[in-house]
Amino acid sequence: MLLRGIQTTCAKLAGVGVDIYGNLLQNQDHDQCIADMNTLNVTVTLFLVATIVMFLFDRGADFKVANGNGKAGPSASLVQKYMDMGFAEEIVLKAMKDNGDDGVDSLVELLLTYQELGNDLKVDNGFASGCVPQTVDDSDDDDILGNWDDEDAGGRSTRVANSVDDSGDEDFLHEMSHKDDKIDSLVKMGFPEDEAALAITRCGLDASISVLVDSIYASQTAGDGYCGNLSDYEDNSYGGINKGMFMDGNKKKRKRYGGQAQGSRGPLDGSADEPMPLPNPMVGLSLPDQWPRPVNRDLPSQAMGPPYFYYENVALAPKGVWTIISRFLYDIQPEFVDSKYFCAAARKRGYIHNLPLENRSPLLPKPPRTISAAFPRTKRWWPSWDTRQQFNCLQTCVSSAKLLEKIRVTLTNSSDPPPPRVQKLVLEECRKWNLAWVGLNKVAPLEPDEMEFLLGFPKDHTRGISRTERYRSLGNSFQVDTVAYHLSVLKDMYPQGMNVLSLFSGIGGAEVALHRLGIHMKTVISVEKSEVNRTILRSWWDQTQTGTLIEINDVQTLTSERIETYIRRIGGFDLVIGGSPCNNLAGSNRHHRNGLEGEHSSLFFQYVRILESVKSIQRL
Ligand code: SAH
Repeated sequence: MLLRGIQTTCAKLAGVGVDIYGNLLQNQDHDQCIADMNTLNVTVTLFLVATIVMFLFDRGADFKVANGNGKAGPSASLVQKYMDMGFAEEIVLKAMKDNGDDGVDSLVELLLTYQELGNDLKVDNGFASGCVPQTVDDSDDDDILGNWDDEDAGGRSTRVANSVDDSGDEDFLHEMSHKDDKIDSLVKMGFPEDEAALAITRCGLDASISVLVDSIYASQTAGDGYCGNLSDYEDNSYGGINKGMFMDGNKKKRKRYGGQAQGSRGPLDGSADEPMPLPNPMVGLSLPDQWPRPVNRDLPSQAMGPPYFYYENVALAPKGVWTIISRFLYDIQPEFVDSKYFCAAARKRGYIHNLPLENRSPLLPKPPRTISAAFPRTKRWWPSWDTRQQFNCLQTCVSSAKLLEKIRVTLTNSSDPPPPRVQKLVLEECRKWNLAWVGLNKVAPLEPDEMEFLLGFPKDHTRGISRTERYRSLGNSFQVDTVAYHLSVLKDMYPQGMNVLSLFSGIGGAEVALHRLGIHMKTVISVEKSEVNRTILRSWWDQTQTGTLIEINDVQTLTSERIETYIRRIGGFDLVIGGSPCNNLAGSNRHHRNGLEGEHSSLFFQYVRILESVKSIQRL
């Protein structure tokens, strides 16, 4: 492997070797390199020896340059040296980071391996595309740490693979090394690495070490079942438009909910917000087939249904977001659930609702919880060194064919099993992109119908639109089994059926959940901007439902007058359900991740406005 890597990069190495090593490689040009393997081997050996000797000498002076945290890191000149040898800067940085203190020879080996794998991997994996894959740790039982950028960001944004965001590549590399530095500093101070990483997830990469330390202490004292807090260290001001839009409601709401059932929430700029607990494991208030934990949930009278309401968004939103969402929804605490407890793919979401908690029941049959059970055909090709049991959060975009081919070629040319470093790189990509093994050394993204299956939709639910649109719509949707479990309590309450106001309906995750629960939908007023999504929902409705579906394009056009007209016509809504777009809440592009102030995410306030309007009209 090493030799092959050397062969493919020898032209660069030899060419630059003239400058760096003088006579040593002076007569070794590219053609000779290809033509004369014996000479090459000797030359390469000499090159490596020279490299090792040189860097062993250099190391003391050059490698150990203390950074601000007292941590030794690569010096700019050392990075430059490797760059002069023909390696790209990001490859050098990544290799140095991954190599740690393993020595120069293994660093050189790593560089050569990355040179072969890495350039394409990096370009393909979407760091430059703005399409953010998730990162997940190796363990099967707890992936909370790895899912910051992701994830679970996963989904709800409308990023498309291969769209170009120039900032992504550099941002990622910078963030990666910055994050590692911070984790190292905290580990040196005696904190466990996973706690350190989680603190960064909670507080953000820009948080100072002292803030991170505070956060770890806070999480350690947060009590049973909680690994930490969603911190509110940053200013949570949600800015002009939302304040303006909601001015009257805000004032009333502070009076109504501030200091009541769930405690005082402080001023609206978020500066005094309590941290929001992020549970670990992320199992919500109960799971099927488990004894429900006793939950002390006193809903304020203003929050009681009917109408029932159910609001959903990504769990790992920026600091302060869930605190504000909760404040606007009667101070009800979010129920954070990872759908990996319901199906074979993770999906971390927060749900705020006023539904009863007793007598929940799951959809049957229960979906398989492991990849091998969900897709038995992949078992045959799954290498033993890929220990994934579940997929990560299903995203709105997929990997490129080029990456898949690169992985196949690399593995075909590797030993069996491949060297650990190749395994690591391939696994990283498999996790990022939810790749499945579909042939010998052959991985592929999930097909849209496989995503439909994992998410609890009927087969071909999204068929008939472009693949890109299918991935986008599915990546944004509810996981039906999870949502249905929460909604199941409505079945006995509404034997004659329900009237539903479905906001941000997407491809109808809520409607499919109610249908699969056997709850009749007398009328659904569905508000969804995307025509493609509306068509999917309409087509499913016409095939499966006998009730009435009324479609509206934009939540902003659903005025109080219109709501009143509908309420008079149908006799009132029993359920107001929806998850507003999370484009400004999720993803690793921090420029767009500006919380509820963002253009899309501020639509949350439309949910609140409409819910308030329904409640006040139905109170009359
Ligand atoms: N719960 C849905 C997905 C919600 S994603 C499902 O199960 O499929 C958020 C949805 O909000 C997207 O489908 C998006 O098209 C829609 N949306 C965005 N802006 C909107 C607006 N102004 N009015 C109505 N819908 C909107």
